[in-house]
Amino acid sequence: MNFRHQELVVTTALLLVLLLLPHHAARAEEPAANLVLVTLDGVRWQEVFGGIDLDLIEDERYANSPAFLKENYWREQRNERRQLLFPFLWSVVASQGVLIGDREQESFIDVSNSWWFSYPGYNEILTGSADPAIDSNARNWNRNVTFLEILNGIKEFKNHVLAFGSWDVFPYIINSQRSGVPVNSGFTIASPVNTAKSLWLNEISADAPMLWRSVRLDLITNGYAMDALENRHPRVIYIAYGETDDFAHDGSYDRYIDAAHRTDLMLSKLWNWLQADPFYRDCTTLMISTDHGRGNTPDVWTRHASAAGAVKLGIADAPDGVPGSDQIWFAAIGPHIKAQGILRGHWKQSQIAATALASLQLDPTRLMPQADRAMDELLH
Ligand SMILES: [Zn+2]
Repeated sequence: MNFRHQELVVTTALLLVLLLLPHHAARAEEPAANLVLVTLDGVRWQEVFGGIDLDLIEDERYANSPAFLKENYWREQRNERRQLLFPFLWSVVASQGVLIGDREQESFIDVSNSWWFSYPGYNEILTGSADPAIDSNARNWNRNVTFLEILNGIKEFKNHVLAFGSWDVFPYIINSQRSGVPVNSGFTIASPVNTAKSLWLNEISADAPMLWRSVRLDLITNGYAMDALENRHPRVIYIAYGETDDFAHDGSYDRYIDAAHRTDLMLSKLWNWLQADPFYRDCTTLMISTDHGRGNTPDVWTRHASAAGAVKLGIADAPDGVPGSDQIWFAAIGPHIKAQGILRGHWKQSQIAATALASLQLDPTRLMPQADRAMDELLH
């Protein structure tokens, strides 16, 4: 081998190493896992798995445009109905992820708190256990620690955990004072304002109709959350939509259905955006659930509370509570979630926190020893 030959061999070898190195580096280390947790306030499993309810379409107490609802959402087949109402859940999540809560398919998930309304439910989702002392929706700073707060205390997640909610009680539930997790919710405006989109959202927040005193429109919550994803790239984001519950309390089945459908479209756009973004693509889990169910008959579908909860909330005409409002649902999709569609079995709302930590490849029994166990059956 002469000198030139040697040089050629060395150069070729170097080139090969350079060509192979990045691939090896990429394969050796998995990208950091991220999480998007979403809740739709008070959406019934009956609509998620069965689509629109014919009894409610035909009940003139609740439906303003029965013809419109029937044409757009009603089909004889249960599978077709739910696909029309929640196209993202039933095309993407059902084929690439899991859904829990179809009681007609032996799939059950229930709240374990004894109240069956919002603050107790969100506390259970985020802390992994029910606290009997949380017995109202009042703006009380939560004494319990959420998994968001725990993550914000870990170096890799510090200042990369954000929360957005339509209901103005979320800063208290997440205890933003103590946890340091920024919570943008209710009628507060974005802080700090640093993008054209958040400036515009601040403006429309002030201009938009105030349908309820403590819940803003979900499109505003969604806008702030998407802006944060695009510009701040949080590792963990919690987005809490709220319209569905309030339209249901208002007794408007049209608007409840419309809000549920629009939220599904937001989730579709969110998932497609995550899969197009190099930071989130293929390493982000999306989990979707609800804080409570609702009544399971036309007379009580607008409401939700246990017997004890009805006393606490002062619902005088439901002394025995609202049966069925402890029944919830859960859906997930992501790199560590099995692609099995509807899973049979029994689970609890209190298992969501540990499942969220496990999806981030963390050990929930070490980080949250007091929380209920993760839903290992849907993880891999
Ligand atoms: Zn409610």
